[in-house]
Amino acid sequence: MLLGPPGAGKGTQSKLLQEHLRIPQISTGDMLRRVIEQGTALGKKAKEFMDRGDLVPDELIIDIVEQRLAGDDCKRGFLLDGFPRTAEQVRALDGMLGKMNVKIDAAVALLVPRAELIRRLSGRRTCRNCGTMYHVTSNPPEKRGVCDHCGGELYQRVDDKEETIGARFDVYEEQSASLRPLYRERGLLREIDGTKGTQQVFDRILREVRQAA
Ligand code: AMP
Repeated sequence: MLLGPPGAGKGTQSKLLQEHLRIPQISTGDMLRRVIEQGTALGKKAKEFMDRGDLVPDELIIDIVEQRLAGDDCKRGFLLDGFPRTAEQVRALDGMLGKMNVKIDAAVALLVPRAELIRRLSGRRTCRNCGTMYHVTSNPPEKRGVCDHCGGELYQRVDDKEETIGARFDVYEEQSASLRPLYRERGLLREIDGTKGTQQVFDRILREVRQAA
């Protein structure tokens, strides 16, 4: 499980970990964005919350995760990215894992100061097709607006615009920051300096996960 505020690097790191460990990345943010692209009723409802920087209601996200974890590809393990985010989601996850007879090996928290988070989020561009993330100055694509991996279109997420970033931090502090002490109490928390380069952070996470598993 990866924990951390928006912009800490959960998405980037979990995509790398997914390839390396060959276990699926369960990113609730990516799943919601996909549902929105499909234009379903669920997507329309979720979009309202996401565009404001709010969390989507627990019952909605819990259902989505429960269905996803039932997939065959989760039998060898999985990586949670962006879930849980509230105490209620932790309770629901505990119930799901209990039923599956599965335990979390580690809750990896990425630590990054606020100024760096804002720099990352406001310059972030995301591939509409595969979700790969870039930064306009520190990690630009080879061709402006085009994903290096799949040729998909890069866009700025509505919730990465400066006016929404502050709301997302507030929501994180109010609802999600308390998950760190909770997983520390359970002896699962691994705190990692998320300001280092992508590869360095990745190596550190891998070391922690290997020790824990
Ligand atoms: P992310 O891509 O993880 O930054 O998530 C983007 C947005 O999706 C969040 O700001 C929320 O609106 C929504 N979201 C993602 N995961 C969750 C979750 N576990 N609970 C509630 N809302 C979520």
